[in-house]
Amino acid sequence: MALHLHNTLTRAREPFRPIDPSHVRIYVCGATVYDTAHLGNARSAVVFDLLRAVLEAEWPKVTFVRNITDIEDKIMDRARSTGQSIEQVTEAAIRFQDEDLAALGVRPPTVAPRATRHIPQILELIGILLAKGHAYAAERHVLFDVRSNPRAGRLSGQTLAGLREGARVEVAPYKRDGADFVLWKPSTPEQPGWDSPWGRGRPGWHVECSAMAATHLGPEFDIHGGGSDLIFPHHENEIAQSTCAHGTEHMARFWLHNGMLTVDGLKMAKSAGNFITVRELLAAHPGRAEAIRLMLLSVHYRQDLDFTEPRLHEAAQTLDRAYGALRGMPGNDAGNDAGGGGAVLAALQDDLNTPLALARLHELIGRVNTASGSERDARAADLRAAGRLLGVLRLDPEAWFQGGTHDPAEIDRLVGERATARAARDFATADRIRARLESRGIALEDRPEGTVWRLG
Ligand SMILES: [Zn+2]
Repeated sequence: MALHLHNTLTRAREPFRPIDPSHVRIYVCGATVYDTAHLGNARSAVVFDLLRAVLEAEWPKVTFVRNITDIEDKIMDRARSTGQSIEQVTEAAIRFQDEDLAALGVRPPTVAPRATRHIPQILELIGILLAKGHAYAAERHVLFDVRSNPRAGRLSGQTLAGLREGARVEVAPYKRDGADFVLWKPSTPEQPGWDSPWGRGRPGWHVECSAMAATHLGPEFDIHGGGSDLIFPHHENEIAQSTCAHGTEHMARFWLHNGMLTVDGLKMAKSAGNFITVRELLAAHPGRAEAIRLMLLSVHYRQDLDFTEPRLHEAAQTLDRAYGALRGMPGNDAGNDAGGGGAVLAALQDDLNTPLALARLHELIGRVNTASGSERDARAADLRAAGRLLGVLRLDPEAWFQGGTHDPAEIDRLVGERATARAARDFATADRIRARLESRGIALEDRPEGTVWRLG
């Protein structure tokens, strides 16, 4: 079966074909880095990590870009309220986010561009929009002229009046239209800023993504993803900027949006006291990172997902069953992708139908349990292949049943990072990593041939 995806742009399920048949290009909006990742961030990351695996199963090369928004008013507010520098806030948040997503089996993107490292490209994009009459400078701001855009409102299906209503931002006297949005804004001397033809300032959020996407994927690419809360205004404005600047029909051919995450039926919010970070959930359920991942995939990605402890427990039980079937079987050999992986892959090629994929995973478990001899080995290989695709069943079954509070691959990664920091004589970072591992009961011993770790 060929991959079909629901395209927000056309509001229809369409067969997916990459623009370049040898290279799929995808951009996903990453988090604004001022805090640790919450469960909603994790859901988006896991969903698009799965899409990436499905694309890789069919096409030889996939470039997966997930940006880092490291300049934003929320970051500046956090730095001010905690007395830290902007860099301290963003570096800590990026490190935590990388660790948390790695624990959930989310692979690092091909490119993780940072907005602050793309200021020349952002300025260039704004310059093109000005030159083409799609933007105007006013009172040290540069604004996008929404009325100049023939495609305004296309993604969210709104009229210009709707965009004005939806913008709901303070009506500034320098705006020609209430729906015009900021490309560049002035910074005060104490705020971070860069020199520009319009004075020292900083970019608006939307233009950062347009510039980073074009830099790493070109003016028109295959898939743009993100949470459904980003459709308007963020993605609508990205399309306006990119198509007007580059003169293309599309920024991305396919737009995919994951549903929101609620907790016990309520919208997750710090004020409601139901705000769950990945870090807290991992700490509360040691060794069950794969269950968290599977729980995040248990509902179709376009629907809202309600997090409850019973739902997480159910995912853990599925893995208990799968690891139980694999217990005592030969090691992690290459699975039969055409068999077990194939049935699950076919479900995922149907607009990432994860509920169907999980039903097929259960069938595969049943087949391992009822088979014997070499047939059983083959069915176990099928099950592992299916798990690989979903990003689970990566552990030794014994480690899973021991509660497996430690993921050896993750510890290896941290030990490697510490070695790199030591080689660069960055002893502060090296010591921080050692302290973090020790706080988790992992002792390090530096030997001439390298560092070894053991559970203390
Ligand atoms: Zn974005």
